[in-house]
Amino acid sequence: MILPGSTIGMLGGGQLGRMSTFKAKQMGYNVVVLDSAPHCPCGQVADRQIVAPFDDEAALRQLAAACDVITYEFENVAVRAVELLESWGKTVWPDSHALRISQHRWAEKEFLRQSGVGVADFFKVAARADLAIAAEQIGFPGLLKTATGGYDGKGQILLHNNTQAGQAFDTLNHPALVWEKQVPFVKELSVICARNRQGEVVTYPATENIHVDNILDISLAPAEVPAKVQAEAQRVARIIAEKLNLVGVCGVEMFLLPDETILVNELAPRPHNSGHYTIDACRCSQFEQHIRAICDLPLGSTELKGYAAMANLLGTGTGNNLTGLENVLQNSRVCFHLYGKHQAAAKRKMGHVTALSDSSVHEALAWALEAREKLKWQ
Ligand code: AMP
Repeated sequence: MILPGSTIGMLGGGQLGRMSTFKAKQMGYNVVVLDSAPHCPCGQVADRQIVAPFDDEAALRQLAAACDVITYEFENVAVRAVELLESWGKTVWPDSHALRISQHRWAEKEFLRQSGVGVADFFKVAARADLAIAAEQIGFPGLLKTATGGYDGKGQILLHNNTQAGQAFDTLNHPALVWEKQVPFVKELSVICARNRQGEVVTYPATENIHVDNILDISLAPAEVPAKVQAEAQRVARIIAEKLNLVGVCGVEMFLLPDETILVNELAPRPHNSGHYTIDACRCSQFEQHIRAICDLPLGSTELKGYAAMANLLGTGTGNNLTGLENVLQNSRVCFHLYGKHQAAAKRKMGHVTALSDSSVHEALAWALEAREKLKWQ
């Protein structure tokens, strides 16, 4: 076990690292973060920040020297950086194997299929000539996605015909793409799962996620789905945690089809935006769970204390000062979180609100939306 008093290294200094660090500090750990942006959201609360890019080998050596265990807070950290740390004998959780799979849609989909988990039909596109085969085998409407580097819907284009496919291929201009069938989902769900080295696995209730412009807007916990679907979503996440040999938490994004089939869209081997509600609504949050898992501690309870709705607060580009907080705080069922980002650029994730209700997810949603409505960037 890595006990309190030890030092955790964090690759990446955004809000996920920040919220993990709050928990780590509460539990008595030290945290050193590596991020190229000085005074980043995580750097503001960590014991120390090494200001450097993730591929700076000297900086990685400093991090390795300072830390007992290392983790990362977003999945586009170069696998090479994690492999280097591992080659120096450092423990990084989730390990480079899990990171490698989640970073490349080809590897991810193959892993999911081999694990017996459903995915949307897909075809790997590496050259223009592959488009005709994909059109034939998968068909329209389809989504052409870059296999690496995409997030929040970036790096993907909807295709209705062959002309659009050719144009999308040129626009994306990427050596590895995937042509995916666009599936007629009725809901988007996600499950946060956690596993420790001893093989203990826990899953949080599936949430329903609503996206706007491909960016997560709202998460409702628990998702309003039949008990059978809730159980199946958690079963699928558990399989993934086990087959991935996960140590840490992982967000599993899913589509629920009209016939109640579940398909997995993406894996994020780190705390996930759709799990932010767990800070206020669960006995042990996804962030505490992550710290427990990477430090070989027993995992905590994922039990929900009520109904929860989380609404993201995005920047609008209209100003960097948030007004209206005094009105939001009048509702004692609304919890307010800001990430310490100084520039509220349009669509930038600046914070979130979580509302808790004893009676329904609808009431929680109404309160979360009412709270968000009162907040303005000026
Ligand atoms: P992704 O970048 O893969 O997470 O996709 C971003 C969003 O695009 C998802 O949250 C869905 O709303 C939508 N999407 C992605 N893939 C599919 C698909 N195969 N069928 C339908 N919608 C999709």
